[in-house]
Amino acid sequence: MKKLIFRALVLSIMMACSGEKKEKKEAFEIKSKPKTEAKAEKKEEAITPADATVVELGSNDQMKFDKSEIKVPAGKKVSLTLTHTGKLDIKVMGHNFVLLKQGTDIAKFAGTAMSNPPLYLPSDKSEVIAYTKTIGGGDSVTITFDAPEKGTYDFICSFPGHYAIMKGKFIVE
Ligand code: ZN
Repeated sequence: MKKLIFRALVLSIMMACSGEKKEKKEAFEIKSKPKTEAKAEKKEEAITPADATVVELGSNDQMKFDKSEIKVPAGKKVSLTLTHTGKLDIKVMGHNFVLLKQGTDIAKFAGTAMSNPPLYLPSDKSEVIAYTKTIGGGDSVTITFDAPEKGTYDFICSFPGHYAIMKGKFIVE
């Protein structure tokens, strides 16, 4: 949107400085510009549904998520982006986001998950609602999933040794 305003500004300045012939040409360009802009917006929507709840979750080299609680409305899709703002390699400080079903024994789950790289998830994913791949420093990953039914759920990073600190509550209301 800002770009569009800037373009319009530049064009009007150009028009003010040029003759009538050129003015007609510029006017035509103004008409054709919004089309390309609209196309770009549509492309973005294809990746993230327009009505999805957007969640940004940060993680770092200090083995921490930047949120201990995530709240989303029920009955909508969630578009979650996990970002790793650190610099450490995926093998040393890998992070993921794993949303677990209610009643999951986290310690037991993490124990099985840790011996299963690179996803660090058990081959049986019946206790998993949603998960991202594991990322290293400087990376990010986005997933889209349906919010589970109303309630409080646990999310963890299942990279070996991380779940005790990298955990939080995912609340659907
Ligand atoms: Zn982690």
